[in-house]
Amino acid sequence: MRPVVLAVAITGSVPRKADNPAVPITVAEQVESTHEAFEAGASLVHIHVRNPDETPSSDPELFKGVMEGVRRHCPGIIVQFSTGGRGRDPSARGSALYLRPEMASLSTGSVNFPTIIYENPPSLIDELATSMKQHGVRPEIEIFDLSMIHGARLLVDRGIIDHRPHVQFVLGVKNALPAQEHLLDILLAELRRQLPEATWTAAGIGRYQSEVMEWALRRGADGVRTGLEDNIRVTRSQLAKSNAELVSLATEKLTCHDARPARAEEARRMLSVAPC
Ligand code: ZN
Repeated sequence: MRPVVLAVAITGSVPRKADNPAVPITVAEQVESTHEAFEAGASLVHIHVRNPDETPSSDPELFKGVMEGVRRHCPGIIVQFSTGGRGRDPSARGSALYLRPEMASLSTGSVNFPTIIYENPPSLIDELATSMKQHGVRPEIEIFDLSMIHGARLLVDRGIIDHRPHVQFVLGVKNALPAQEHLLDILLAELRRQLPEATWTAAGIGRYQSEVMEWALRRGADGVRTGLEDNIRVTRSQLAKSNAELVSLATEKLTCHDARPARAEEARRMLSVAPC
C-alpha cells in the first residue's frame, strides 16, 4: 500500500465551540487534539491559534506553546503554521516563522472568500516567502485559483522557493473555486506544466471534504487533508466528535485506494522536510 501524507487542520480561523464543541481553542486542547489525530494516522498538523475569546490570533507565544506540546507528544509529526486565515493583521501573519516550524502555508495570490477578500498582495507574498526561506521553513503553497500556480512559479524562478514545493488545492470555499472534479484536473494539469516536481494534496471545504479526498486519491495525490478547520460534520446532521474521528474516516478512505497513512518519518521524506 502506498503511503499518503494525512494532514489534519485542527482549528482554523472560522469554527467556534458554538458550532462544534470539539474545535480545540486553547493550547492544551490543541495539543491534545493533535495527539489523538496523530495516533489515528495524521503525520502533519496545520495550526492556527486563537485568543481566549476564540478570535484568530497571531501571537507567537501561542504558536510556540502548541509546537512544543505537539513535538513532545507526537514524535516526528510535521508542524505547519498557517500564515493565512481570516481576521489576522496582515503584518503579523508571518510573526511566528522565526520559531522554525517545519512548514508554513503560503497563499500566492488573492481571492474572494465568503464575506471578505482574502488579501495576499505581491509585497506580502514576497515578505512571507522570504522569511520562510531565511528560517528554513518549507512552504505549502495554497492554491485557491489557477493564477496562484503561476504566482508560485514566479517565486521559484526568482529562487525564493525551491523547484519542488508542496502544493495544496483548496476547493469548495464560497466565492472561490467550487468543488468540482474537472477543476481539479485543470489545476493539476497546469501544476504539472509549471511545477512538474511539486508534490500535491487537496482540501475540500465543508461537505466536500470527503469527495475531494476521493478525487485526490484517485489521481495519486501525495497527501490528503482533513480536520475541523475545513469541516465540522461527519454527516449532514451529525457533528464530528474530534479531529481524530475525521482522521479515522480519512484512513478508511485511504484503504479503499490501496493506500495507508504515511508514518511521520515517511511524510518528512515525501515532502522534503528534514528528518527530526
Ligand atoms: Zn488554515
